[in-house]
Amino acid sequence: MTTQEKITELDKIAEEIKAFKGLDIAKNCTRAVPGEGNPDADIFFCGEGPGYHEDQQGRPFVGQAGKLLEKSLQSIGLQRSDVFITNVVKYRPPENRDPFPNEIEACRDWLDRQIAVIEPKIIATLGRFSMAKFIPDVSISRVHGLSRFVDFQISNFKFQIIVFPMYHPAAALRAGQVMTSFIEDFNKLKRLLHPQTLPVEVISPPPSVVQKSLFNL
Ligand code: URA
Repeated sequence: MTTQEKITELDKIAEEIKAFKGLDIAKNCTRAVPGEGNPDADIFFCGEGPGYHEDQQGRPFVGQAGKLLEKSLQSIGLQRSDVFITNVVKYRPPENRDPFPNEIEACRDWLDRQIAVIEPKIIATLGRFSMAKFIPDVSISRVHGLSRFVDFQISNFKFQIIVFPMYHPAAALRAGQVMTSFIEDFNKLKRLLHPQTLPVEVISPPPSVVQKSLFNL
């Protein structure tokens, strides 16, 4: 897909998200938050769901957690506009409660399509809900900062993608130890982006994928 085709497709997905009224959170939110960023992004960040500020502005990660995310991106030489940022649920759960499984499921196809359009090198999951989409039944405290190849399929489009689980920035803001891990993981993310100069291990890369050097990584 050309960049223009990607923009057109991402806009179409965003319009569907905004028009959808099939969930209470979709009916009751101020604004839907489809996600935003570079259609050719190497890194695709996926958080949990919009909070108060995101709901007000219709943009992901614009509150305190977003400020930390932006600062961390800058620390590895990236701007917010270099990456794509979205969430597993596209509408604010009331009182910032955890998203319900049916809400995650209702938003799943949009998230999958966003990934398929952008074809990022790396999906960086922020928090346990987005991690669980790609790596179920693991504890974030054990696997954060460890990248791995994950099978990704949408319709008949199948590929392997590197998933890099990270703590949620809001959790980093709450606890010093988590903040330390969050900063360390960002540095690993930088190495993952530039493996030629800064090698980093990816868990169990299947031989075919190594050979193909997935997405020229
Ligand atoms: N937390 C999230 O998970 N997503 C946002 O967009 C903002 C805060």
